[in-house]
Amino acid sequence: SKLLEEKTSLVTGAGSGIGRASALALAREGAAVCAVDRHIEAAQETAEEIRRLGGRAHAVRADVAVEQEVKAMISEAMDEFGRVDCYFNNAGIGTVESNSRGKSLAQLELADWQRMIDVNLTGVFLCMKYEILAMGEKGGSIVNNASIGGLQGLKNAAAYTAAKHGVIGLTKSAAIEYGESGIRVNAVCPGHILTPLIMKSSNLNPDLARMNPMNRLGTMEEIAELVVWLSSSRASFSNGAVFVADGGRLAA
Ligand code: NAD
Repeated sequence: SKLLEEKTSLVTGAGSGIGRASALALAREGAAVCAVDRHIEAAQETAEEIRRLGGRAHAVRADVAVEQEVKAMISEAMDEFGRVDCYFNNAGIGTVESNSRGKSLAQLELADWQRMIDVNLTGVFLCMKYEILAMGEKGGSIVNNASIGGLQGLKNAAAYTAAKHGVIGLTKSAAIEYGESGIRVNAVCPGHILTPLIMKSSNLNPDLARMNPMNRLGTMEEIAELVVWLSSSRASFSNGAVFVADGGRLAA
């Protein structure tokens, strides 16, 4: 039988990259998926792909940085599925979208910083808040997408790095506050993964692939595997933990 049979899930940023790959992987293991994205057409494409594979999916438009939209996203998922067991808070932007590509800390404008924090940190806070309220005493799993930038500094990415360190702080705080309610909260830290985001921020800098002992970029599926496992009962004692998949970069 499948790992997530009878389970329901919600993935933010499900219209592209790691979010889409994870939505598909959750569906392959039997979970119904609420695919959320700021771009509704992208979310709908993911949902359609899941349905083509015989799965159950529903697409929702929401900007995770806007409280009312996050609230509405959770109500829509609850209306559609009755309950949601596994959440993957993955939506995020890179330095290009926040107008901070190539800028060192002192070159950052307040607006650049604010945009990054709004989406990559406040967005995760807002999602967690309404997810936890919706889960109540039923329990479930939350996985937050941080980054190796949540564990180490990245050059010319101070706002991104600060936001991702913050995501790890939120993960650990919620894990100790809600462990008793049966809510497990964990974070994944991808290294450099081949997605549209990394292509934009690096212009596919060939050195990126060599920045880890395995000499290659990771695939979206390699992160999706971790998300599926963490969302399942196989990870039943993992809570407040940080899972790195970076080809050994942090070890080097
Ligand atoms: P991507 O750009 O391919 O996909 C991100 C998706 O999130 C897009 O569909 C986008 O529309 C959506 N999104 C962006 N802002 C949103 C918002 N405010 N509300 C709702 N949806 C929004 O990027 P990706 O590489 O798949 O990255 C996904 C996550 O993984 C991000 O949090 C990123 O920081 C993290 N990450 C990526 C890498 C990498 O190497 N690609 C490494 C570490 C961490």
